[in-house]
Amino acid sequence: MHTTFLCLACARVYPWDSLRRLCDCGGLLDSLNPRLFDAAQVTAEPTLWRYRHVLAEHPPVTLGEGWTPLAELRLQGRTILLKLDHLTPTGSFKDRGASLLVTRLHAAGVTAVVEDSSGNAGAALAAYAARAGMRCGIYCPASTAAAKTRQMTACGAEVVRVAGPREAAAEAVLDAAEACVYASHVFDPTYLEGTQTAAFEIAEQLGWRAPGAVVAPVGNGTLLLGLLKGFRKLREAGVIAELPVLSAARAAVRPTLAEGIAVRRPPRGEAIAAALRATAGRAVDLSETEILTAWQGLAKNGLYVEPTAATAVAAAGRLLRDGAVPPATDLVAVLTGSGLKTGEASAAVWDMAGAAPG
Ligand SMILES: [Zn+2]
Repeated sequence: MHTTFLCLACARVYPWDSLRRLCDCGGLLDSLNPRLFDAAQVTAEPTLWRYRHVLAEHPPVTLGEGWTPLAELRLQGRTILLKLDHLTPTGSFKDRGASLLVTRLHAAGVTAVVEDSSGNAGAALAAYAARAGMRCGIYCPASTAAAKTRQMTACGAEVVRVAGPREAAAEAVLDAAEACVYASHVFDPTYLEGTQTAAFEIAEQLGWRAPGAVVAPVGNGTLLLGLLKGFRKLREAGVIAELPVLSAARAAVRPTLAEGIAVRRPPRGEAIAAALRATAGRAVDLSETEILTAWQGLAKNGLYVEPTAATAVAAAGRLLRDGAVPPATDLVAVLTGSGLKTGEASAAVWDMAGAAPG
């Protein structure tokens, strides 16, 4: 029982080893996972592969990703929960998707992949491709943090810097994908099969129940859409009764400190809007001051994440201020990337801002 692919436009189904970016009709693909989640089959393995019964039958390509801690943070007189997804092999939640995607491609016999990325997805793919013995090429916007491109080249990937906005790298990779497999964190729904494990973990860590609300940074939506997929999988199996309210943290302006979510027109934009509607969540557009304040505030609590990750906490603060999260409701904010990968431009803003507000 393999996970297959379903065209969201015409409902055509493609087999598990399909290497296509889109349906023949041009529609985006979603995954069609026939397995039922079963809490009794969850193993004690301290990685996301503890949910292997619902993920894949292929031998995992793994670096020990997932099963990240839930930690408490005091925010505006409330205690919220932080999912520490910056604590992963390459320092971002993207390892969840990369592990599942490379596992599938490896099983399909793929030996060379290309990807376009503003940083974390490329770093994750480079690491998992290295683990699987695949050649890897990453197309980055010229503005990508040196800490991230260094991480990619260290893992053996060929890095191609593309001038212009993030979208220019997305176009450039399509030419390269003629010769290699396009291992896209945006188009390949296997990625969401991986990021859905964040939902499984949050529910398991809460004693097999859903939190009231989850807020995640959203650029291309790989985390938000995975969370929705995961919580739906749990509801389908009767593990949880209701979906949490899912909200999206976004940067209001460009350029932004939150370089990881600087995506003008995400290809899965409709699905992101539908996810917010389906759970009565909202998009929270954050000013640079709000992002900087949340970033520095987290660091003052010992949590050094990248500015993109801090948007989740900035948005959580806004939701609390607006009274959007009822008292006694668990609010989870996902910290998506390590501060060690912060770009030079963002670091310069931090330096100029001086001491953080209390
Ligand atoms: Zn189609």
